[in-house]
Amino acid sequence: MRQLPEADRDAIRIAQDPQFTRWLDQITATGGCSHPVHLFGSTTTLDATTGEILRHYDTRDQPGERLLVRCRNRRATVCAPCSRLHAGDTFHLVRAGLSGGKNVPSTVRQRPRLFITLTAPSFGAVHRAGEDRCRPRRDRSECEHGRPLGCGAIHDTPDSLVGQPLCADCYDYPAHALWHAHAGKLWDRFVIGVRRQLASAAGVVQSRLPDHARLSFARVAEYQKRAAVHIHAIVRLDGPAGPTDEPPDWGTVDRLTAAVRASASQVVVRSPYSPAVGELALRWGVQVDARPLHADGDGPDDDAVAAYVAKYVTKGASETGAGTDYRLTTWGDVEAARVSGHVRALMSTCWRLGGLPEFAPLHLRSWAHTLGYRGHILAKSRAYSTTYAALRAERAHHVSHAEIAEAVTERQWRYVGSGHSLGAALIAAGIADDLAMNLAVNAERRTGRG
Ligand SMILES: [Zn+2]
Ligand SMILES: [Zn+2]
Ligand SMILES: [Zn+2]
Repeated sequence: MRQLPEADRDAIRIAQDPQFTRWLDQITATGGCSHPVHLFGSTTTLDATTGEILRHYDTRDQPGERLLVRCRNRRATVCAPCSRLHAGDTFHLVRAGLSGGKNVPSTVRQRPRLFITLTAPSFGAVHRAGEDRCRPRRDRSECEHGRPLGCGAIHDTPDSLVGQPLCADCYDYPAHALWHAHAGKLWDRFVIGVRRQLASAAGVVQSRLPDHARLSFARVAEYQKRAAVHIHAIVRLDGPAGPTDEPPDWGTVDRLTAAVRASASQVVVRSPYSPAVGELALRWGVQVDARPLHADGDGPDDDAVAAYVAKYVTKGASETGAGTDYRLTTWGDVEAARVSGHVRALMSTCWRLGGLPEFAPLHLRSWAHTLGYRGHILAKSRAYSTTYAALRAERAHHVSHAEIAEAVTERQWRYVGSGHSLGAALIAAGIADDLAMNLAVNAERRTGRG
């Protein structure tokens, strides 16, 4: 026993506890969460008229006198089981807006629906992955810093050069950081622009558009190799009441596509004037992808699109190599971050510009770890589909008991800690693996059948 690693000895100690199986049930209920929250307390449900106790749950009866609940972190690097659950919820949330389900009618499949990608513009030449030569040139000309303007190499995707600038001194770091800081505003203006385009195409006064049609979307942000965010979004056009309502006759896929393209090319957001960098006119990149999603199965499949979007929400900034999962609070943090030279240059730029009074509203230092981007990873309009909260409530409903009508519930809970001991972590990881395996097997069976 003494030769065993500490974690194994701890795991054996836990397994010998008389309450081990009940503890295992708790761990299983958290899905093998790697960093559960420990709560102490009780819930009592009373009959509202007689005061009779209908149900009582108390952690005093639980192993260790505590209840373990999921950490709910979306990042796979922080908690794999919770991130899988979050990805699952995202998948259902996105798919419901595409094909119905979760209180959304399946008729949304017949609506004009697009899968769009909006990119950041170029801030300077970077090395590119692919089968072709990176940036071939006939001449051997150099930039003012004496670095070649071209690159004749062929880079594989894992090549650490991919996404790095050909010349860091030529690369416009302030524009990149400020573009990130305004990406949320650019998106908002883009949506307003799409509505404006639709209104004018239909000959409707802009303010009256909500009487005719409603635009819904779900979008996800992804960091590209060059550490610039690009946006994938599902855009859907309904009638004024939302998912249950048919759009007007003029609300076609072609009209929607044209409106998206026009708005993406026209939107401009100006950065605050700064003596250091001037005033920048920030736009979307010229590459705008807008693909119709057809109900008849022609083109990308709804489930594939939903899975594609869900995949991005589990990725933290560190995993994509574009930042860190923790905030940078000092200049020393910027210097010590384990990131590429390109990403560090972006972080330093955020730090430097964040110290200027004209950029104070952008909170660039607080968001230096995400390279200035402070939007949510996933965002959606209200009428798109369901919510994370509703999906969680639905799950809780399945797990516990139905709400008892005419009852009063008293809850008293206290946070008493978080995480696992070494041995508990080992067991929880095993349970998480088993659950993941079951999921994979079930998914295979389903696809095998379909
Ligand atoms: Zn967790
Ligand atoms: Zn190259
Ligand atoms: Zn240069």
